Amino acid sequence: MTELYADFPEMAELFRCADFLGPTASLEVEACVRSNVHGLEFPLVSFHFGNKDPSSPVLIFVGGIHGLEKIGSQIILSFLRSWIRLLRWDQTLVKTLQDCRIIFYPIANPLGMYLNRRSNASGVDLMRNAPVDADDKVYPLVGGHRLSPKLPWYRGTGESNTEDGMETEARVLVSFIRKHCFAAKQSLVLDVHSGFGWIDRVWFPFASSKKPFPKAAHVLALKQLLDRSYPHHVYKIEPQNHSYMTHGDLWDFLYFEHQAEAQTSKESDGVAKIFLPLCLEMGSWPWIKKNPKQLFSSNGFFNPILPHRIKRAERRHFLLFNFLVKAIASGEAWDLHDPKKLQFLSEQAKHLWYS
Ligand SMILES: [Zn+2]
Repeated sequence: MTELYADFPEMAELFRCADFLGPTASLEVEACVRSNVHGLEFPLVSFHFGNKDPSSPVLIFVGGIHGLEKIGSQIILSFLRSWIRLLRWDQTLVKTLQDCRIIFYPIANPLGMYLNRRSNASGVDLMRNAPVDADDKVYPLVGGHRLSPKLPWYRGTGESNTEDGMETEARVLVSFIRKHCFAAKQSLVLDVHSGFGWIDRVWFPFASSKKPFPKAAHVLALKQLLDRSYPHHVYKIEPQNHSYMTHGDLWDFLYFEHQAEAQTSKESDGVAKIFLPLCLEMGSWPWIKKNPKQLFSSNGFFNPILPHRIKRAERRHFLLFNFLVKAIASGEAWDLHDPKKLQFLSEQAKHLWYS
């Protein structure tokens, strides 16, 4: 397989990982995406580890929604590679996986990545493509528009303004997340991006609204665990709308869907399910400052180019990835089933993010 992708290093690495996957793990091809114009076809692949019960807690790593932001896929694949190696001998990880699931979806937009585009092959920005309109003003163009696929941040025609009108990549990802997260007691998603700002941010919803995120207390509980366990971590954790707002955000859409479903299932089985979609937005401007020449490369704005900086980015973010693995395996530390704790953290979250 890997020789098939000689000119697509991320896809080649994905299939190298597949080659040495252990017997307890599985690989699924969720769908294929093709571009007749370019004569290309690529699979959308996921890797699955751990408990098979769909109600068990789950953590999903997603990368490459924006094809130009290759560093996200590269870091996830690098983490996947060490994860596969560790599972051959590390009994603590093997035990961790008895009660939870870890899933990798490393290249969500392979045509865009191959073609060196932020969008997919049809010019649609997948993070502006969900049928969600922002309830407040967004920046022109960058907030999502329907003017032309020749301009960046194009939302698609949105003819039906429903899920059916979404691009294949977005639709497949939405049904993948729904299938693996919506039945779970607790689910965490980390969707990895790059290209905005001086620092590394972890964003949580909403991108489409300034309204407080209903699960902000849970995010704060996670943040406090991270702050106390790794006081020197580098992340600023905040709602995405503190940076900018957009139309068509996939994670807002999925959160609203989950919320509607969780309400119905809570009424039937009394269990409140938690779904926290997080985005890691790696600040790319320091890479450019340290190596201004990379602005002349098509990938240079979004990725570290020099090999030692790529390795450093990998090492830097493994801390967060490993923290999230611990968090999903120890969900009672942040599930906030205690109403007093929930109330206390809700107040704190309001003060920290929404005052
Ligand atoms: Zn992005």
